[in-house]
Amino acid sequence: MRPFDSQLVLRPELSELKAYAPHSGTYEIRLDANEAPPLLSPAARKKLAEVAGKTLWHQYPDASQKDLRKAVAKHCGVKPSQVVVGVGSDELIALLLTVATRPKTRAPAPTILTTTPTFVMYRLSARIRGQRVMEVPLDESWDIDESAMLRAIEMAAPNVIFLATPNNPTGTMFSLDRVEKIVTTAAESIVVIDEAYIDYADKNHLALLEKYENVVILRTLSKIGFAALRVGWMLASPALCAEVDKARLPYNLPTVSQTLATLVLSELGDELRATTEAVKAERGRLATQLAELTGVEVVPSQANFLWLKLDRPAGEVFAELGKRGVLVRSFHGRGGRLEQCLRVTIGTRPQNDRFLEALRESL
Ligand SMILES: *Cc1c(COP(=O)(O)O)cnc(C)c1O
Repeated sequence: MRPFDSQLVLRPELSELKAYAPHSGTYEIRLDANEAPPLLSPAARKKLAEVAGKTLWHQYPDASQKDLRKAVAKHCGVKPSQVVVGVGSDELIALLLTVATRPKTRAPAPTILTTTPTFVMYRLSARIRGQRVMEVPLDESWDIDESAMLRAIEMAAPNVIFLATPNNPTGTMFSLDRVEKIVTTAAESIVVIDEAYIDYADKNHLALLEKYENVVILRTLSKIGFAALRVGWMLASPALCAEVDKARLPYNLPTVSQTLATLVLSELGDELRATTEAVKAERGRLATQLAELTGVEVVPSQANFLWLKLDRPAGEVFAELGKRGVLVRSFHGRGGRLEQCLRVTIGTRPQNDRFLEALRESL
């Protein structure tokens, strides 16, 4: 075979990136991916199976996502023209970074601005497109460092700003006034407020969507019990949604995902509430018990996971937990204050008890 040097054509940024791969290996208890615990009722499972059974397999999915957009709009209290649905909110992050790339005179390449630590897909999606990434460290209580962010906006002239709030992996919700200050200051940027964990929080940012046309809100079914469907959506002005729609592949969302997500949003609201309420109750119970351990500091969480600060290297504790069949998420190797932090997803009560027991033994 004639050899080919793919470096001749591939983006140079690829050489600095690794494909996103969840931790492999078999663990009895996986609390590493912020999925919801499997609490769906048998009746709901049956309904989902019935609707899936009526799928017209020979037809392409609805390219306009009409029914699902309507269901999302009703669920969120906006107009269907303010909704675009993607294959997870990950796809919408990618689509926004595909369209919002007009060069700015003050920046050598389209730039995104975000916090650190935060969700890794912002960086990955931007770098894969050759964009610059600017990350501003969160303050000591894992909230936005307002003056540093405002300086970064001035310096970097970002096309897109990403704020995950509640934030992953810290579980903290940023102060609303700081978020709004960023939205008003960055009047020439899209400000994406990623609400992936909003169902576990006690407030949201819909009021900002009403007030400012540069605001985009991202939401997803992935963290509330339906990660299998890969359904996420953005809420924004009809004008911006129409532009993003031009970059969206027409049949991005499989029929089954569309019909089942529509069912979930329009008829299974009680199931969603039951799941999020159960998780929030467990979050409180687990946090209280963890706080009693010496060497563990629990950061108050508005999400379906807890962010723990340990008095020793997190990598060691991560490995000890693994030996006991429990997988959590460690950020060791990322340096700085992350070296002593672990993220643990809230599971079922028995899973959380097993984690607690394993952690006690690991410390
Ligand atoms: C998990 C997560 C997402 C990804 O959601 P999908 O809809 O599954 O693509 C987006 N943002 C944040 C902050 C997340 O933690």
